[in-house]
Amino acid sequence: MITTRSQQLFEQASHSLVGSGTRSPRSGWLPAPVFVRSGEGAWLTDEDGNRFLDYVMGQGPLILGHRPAPVIAEATRTLQERGSLVSLAHDLEGEAADAITSRMPAVDLVRFSSSGTEAAMYALRFARAFTGRDVVLRFEGHYHGWSDAIHWSAHPSADSWGPDDAPSVTPGSSGIPAAVGGTLLVARWNDVGALERIFASHGERIAAVITEPILGNCGGIMPAPGYLERMRELTRQTGALLIFDEVLTGFRIGTGGAQELLGIDPDLTVMAKAIGAGFPVAALGGRREVMEQAADGRTMHGGTYNSNLLVCAAVIAACRETGADGFYERLNARGTRLADGLVEAARQAGLEACWSGVGALFQLWFSAEPPRDYREANAIVAGSPFFTLYRELRERGVLIQPPQEGLWLISAAHGDADVDRTLEAAADSMPAVAQALAEGSVGPMGGLR
Ligand code: PMP
Repeated sequence: MITTRSQQLFEQASHSLVGSGTRSPRSGWLPAPVFVRSGEGAWLTDEDGNRFLDYVMGQGPLILGHRPAPVIAEATRTLQERGSLVSLAHDLEGEAADAITSRMPAVDLVRFSSSGTEAAMYALRFARAFTGRDVVLRFEGHYHGWSDAIHWSAHPSADSWGPDDAPSVTPGSSGIPAAVGGTLLVARWNDVGALERIFASHGERIAAVITEPILGNCGGIMPAPGYLERMRELTRQTGALLIFDEVLTGFRIGTGGAQELLGIDPDLTVMAKAIGAGFPVAALGGRREVMEQAADGRTMHGGTYNSNLLVCAAVIAACRETGADGFYERLNARGTRLADGLVEAARQAGLEACWSGVGALFQLWFSAEPPRDYREANAIVAGSPFFTLYRELRERGVLIQPPQEGLWLISAAHGDADVDRTLEAAADSMPAVAQALAEGSVGPMGGLR
């Protein structure tokens, strides 16, 4: 029975719209997707007038919260005075590029795209062009966009992922030509031994290794000490390029992204999301010697909307805000307090709990230790009452992503009072979560999927 305006709109929309995977009931948005009217700061208002403290934050871009006034003002002024795009050269492109290169340690030069998927595709093409090799090594559980080239073994199911020490190369969608799989190698992440074995057998063929430096698409899993350092060494020794996909981490977890936090310089960096604080913009950047190859035109990269006036204005304004002194210290401190508080609330209800990630991007796990890779995460999720937490919080006006491979994403608009309010809602929710665990209501979508 349809009882809310969100449900009514969902029903109406399905007459002409096929459901988007990440926004649909299939991904756990039950009882019906939240139909959003508007956002402001840390808050969302839905079509029924319900207000939610939002931890989805547009899947990451909304680092300054919804409708951040300085960015909206700059974007609006640009639209009104100059237009949205020219597909010709303009001053804002270089200014936006400076805003990025001045902060990311391993990024001397950049090119803009409109989405993370495109920028990742460009990174792969570029690495292959630069090295003259075809093979790319990627890791289970990492997401680098949905292109044929790389959407393999992103979130494979246990019946298709193959042996622990030799993961299958599994397409992430129907419609991807099987032959593309021949250009990829897949490994479990955070496993130095696996990395060394692959490099021993295939090192000379590998054009690039692409990795999320902190595994955001699996609940913010941190790299094991020394793991990325070894990856850097092996790529350097064999002439392969190291690509950091910082679409989630860049401009979110610190001034200079994960590369600065972890002290590792990749050859290429994929960026999107927080660089535009909610506007559709992405970038590929890297070392001068590598990136300069792009300038001679041999490696094709295009896009009518690339570096349009509107998004460049947004990048400039967003970087000005996130570049303020202490911005990331405040953000991470608040997120850490939230994550610690959630663990405490769970423990108070008798649940085992811990969290992984950094303050600005984290996940809560109902386990003694956080997972180290996708397969471990899967094992935890299978026995986890997380879906009940999502449901109980939603009823109390706190919105998180229903799948546990998702993240809690905060913004600068989340104040201390919002964190307190969230922790109260969590404390009220945890008894039902403990009960769900006792009753075996566990796994993705509480076992409904
Ligand atoms: N890489 C990572 C690490 C991501 O998290 C995402 C999006 N979630 C992408 C690439 C793809 O970006 P987009 O959705 O802008 O195409």
